Amino acid sequence: MLKIYNTLTRKKEEFQPIHPGVVNMYVCGPTVYNYIHIGNARSAIAFDTVRRYLEFIGYQVNYVSNFTDVDDKMIKAAHEQGITVPELADKYIQAFNEDTAAINIEPATKHPRATENIPEIIQFVSTLIDKGYAYAVDGDVYYRARKFKDYGELSGQSLDDLEVGASEHVSADEVNKKEDPLDFALWKPAKPGEISWDSPWGKGRPGWHIECSVMSTKYLGKTIDIHAGGQDLEFPHHENEIAQSEAATGQKFVKYWMHNGFVTIGKDDEKMSKSLHNFITVHDIIKEVDPQVLRFFMATTQYRRPIQYSEDNLTDAQNNLQHLQTAFNNLEYRKQDAVAGGDAAVEKQLADFKQRFITAMDDDINVQNGIAVVYELTKSANVYAEQTTVALDTLNQYQALLKQLVSIFGVELTVTGQIDDEAIQKLIQQRDEARKNKDFALSDKIRDDLKTKGIIIEDTPQGTRYRKE
Ligand SMILES: [Zn+2]
Repeated sequence: MLKIYNTLTRKKEEFQPIHPGVVNMYVCGPTVYNYIHIGNARSAIAFDTVRRYLEFIGYQVNYVSNFTDVDDKMIKAAHEQGITVPELADKYIQAFNEDTAAINIEPATKHPRATENIPEIIQFVSTLIDKGYAYAVDGDVYYRARKFKDYGELSGQSLDDLEVGASEHVSADEVNKKEDPLDFALWKPAKPGEISWDSPWGKGRPGWHIECSVMSTKYLGKTIDIHAGGQDLEFPHHENEIAQSEAATGQKFVKYWMHNGFVTIGKDDEKMSKSLHNFITVHDIIKEVDPQVLRFFMATTQYRRPIQYSEDNLTDAQNNLQHLQTAFNNLEYRKQDAVAGGDAAVEKQLADFKQRFITAMDDDINVQNGIAVVYELTKSANVYAEQTTVALDTLNQYQALLKQLVSIFGVELTVTGQIDDEAIQKLIQQRDEARKNKDFALSDKIRDDLKTKGIIIEDTPQGTRYRKE
């Protein structure tokens, strides 16, 4: 039985979705004013991996993730680049799609933009005003945080703690308008020349938090199974989403809250932050790092733990991934001399591996224990592929299970170095001849020539094989 750590209750709970067999899941997406940074990638990879596991154990997952396509940062960046806010959004949504495809994030079931939902946002804010949870002042609309009885529950803070924090980052103008420092903006008036929409409170745009309440409710329903995002969103963003949604609908907003850990850079464990000059974008990373390696590296750390981004850790991930790929190739290579049929004893072992993998992952998506089972499976596959006699069905079953389990981490194993690649085979035969004749100069030359073409020759007890780098 799958257990998930629920930030709201601070406990691992048995996962029971509201509708049997279906998971409705919302993940807070990026503000599209730049390429996604490594912190965005961590969140996207963590919850794509969760989604893939939920699908693997049989759930249908409705996965909604938003684009914040209007806010102060969008307006500032569009102004600096001399383009409109929608043009800026289009540019970076396209970049988001390219970057996330490179790291093999499955597209969301629905990827709504805030600006596509302005009428629904205005309606939602009006409801909150009607119910006494919000008030309009000079074109602004604020939420009365103190009126919502559970405010602070998600982030585990008392109203007094929050009050101290709330007064720190607020302009004098806002302080004058708000009834209480804890109150937060639902709607903001537009300054002259800024992008805006007509509303009952004048021309303006939505505050940040309201879009997620509206889009989660609109696309997935009043109560959803999982709402997820980075730890930095617990407060104020998710706290405010709960206050808005539950005040408006009168129903519980989210059953399980999931939050991913931070990315730290280098040795100093500095939290990913722009001010620390650690602003690394996926767009730049994948110019130098194989996107599959980046994906595998991030997917194999449990979502709640911090990830230390370093060259050493990436190299480890690359080596581990190469072992998986080599085992997959070894199985493929043995198909040419395999006997027909299967091996019941090995089949039973494979079923055990699969069950152990599920047991590991059911513990709050413990990918570290899960991948450890996959590495054991890999060892077992290599031992099997070295046997004198191998069965074709069993080779296929090993490959199928490896491929299936590794795909949960967002990596697709494929056959590389196909044995029907005639030209390479011919050269390998020539090299074998040369070695037989003790012409090592020629055999080395053939090996080196192939290496320059990215073909690696490996001599094994079963003969010479090759793989592509
Ligand atoms: Zn959100």
